[in-house]
Amino acid sequence: MICLGVEGTAHSIGVGIIKGMRGRCHVLSNLIKTYQPEKGGIHPREAANHHASHIAELISDSVRHAGVDFSDINLVSFSQGPGLGPCLRTAATAARALALTLEKPLMGVNHCVAHLEIGRGTVPRCRDPVLLYVSGANTQVIAFAEGKYRVFGETLDVGIGNCLDKFGRSIDLGFPCGPKIEAFAKKGTRYLPLPYSIKGMDLAFSGLLTAAESYVTQGEHLEDVCYSLQETTFAMLTEVTERAMAHTEKQEVLLGGGVASNKRLREMVQTMAKDRGASFFVPARELCVDNGAMIAWLGLLMYQSGVRMSLDDSLINQRFRTDMVEVTWRG
Ligand code: AMP
Ligand code: MG
Repeated sequence: MICLGVEGTAHSIGVGIIKGMRGRCHVLSNLIKTYQPEKGGIHPREAANHHASHIAELISDSVRHAGVDFSDINLVSFSQGPGLGPCLRTAATAARALALTLEKPLMGVNHCVAHLEIGRGTVPRCRDPVLLYVSGANTQVIAFAEGKYRVFGETLDVGIGNCLDKFGRSIDLGFPCGPKIEAFAKKGTRYLPLPYSIKGMDLAFSGLLTAAESYVTQGEHLEDVCYSLQETTFAMLTEVTERAMAHTEKQEVLLGGGVASNKRLREMVQTMAKDRGASFFVPARELCVDNGAMIAWLGLLMYQSGVRMSLDDSLINQRFRTDMVEVTWRG
């Protein structure tokens, strides 16, 4: 089966085409266009306008890159949520129009679950991981338990990527700030204490963000502040992930989301996994960030397991929770 997936939860719009073969996901094309705010954060309406102006071209380019015809597509899927309302609606509208035109079935999928499934579908030996999903808006530790993907821990305020971007904006680093903070952090030598806030299994970043900003105003070296920000937040993320692994007795950890590009975070999670005798996995970079291929792959898994979606069921859901999904494709 060949599936085309449209992803549009936040700053990027992506169209991917995948082929499912013997339970594995083969990516035929995966194109992404990213909205860059001139200044400040993402304005949902402007991001949606950006997506609307690129989606038609992305769909035809993606079909061409994949070397298929429109008539080869068996299924159209899209990111149903969670995400920014105007962006979700733009992606969903495009997917509905395409499915209707091609007279092919439509499938709305959960974005967070797609980040996990693309790891299982493309990374060799990754079968039953705990996912540390670290993106701009989302920060969740997710694993499969008792028929569902459960959230074992998550942020109580902003996502880790947002925390880094907000800090970066306060010192005028351009969006996205994560890679720039990573570069500064490499040169840091002095750890400045920051609040380490884990509440139960959940995380909070806004307090330490304020504390990091005030170190800058106090004249501390930016390199040291970035270093301390990374060390503290990444240690928090690693701790919650480790506790979820201990609780679920899972032997694999998978990273997903844009922040998974960070080498220091990878190193910390990998060290934790090694100490536990567990395996550490990261999908290819283009499958870690928000992308259409992961949406296509989850759509295909759902469809092949018997899920069907009518147009009436295809409304977007900005607060689509990971554990609302009935997981029909796993035993
Ligand atoms: P996503 O929302 O999954 O597309 O991821 C976007 C987020 O990833 C933004 O907040 C970026 O600042 C962050 N990001 C990208 N590269 C890095 C990096 N090398 N280190 C930390 N954060 C990063
Ligand atoms: Mg994402």
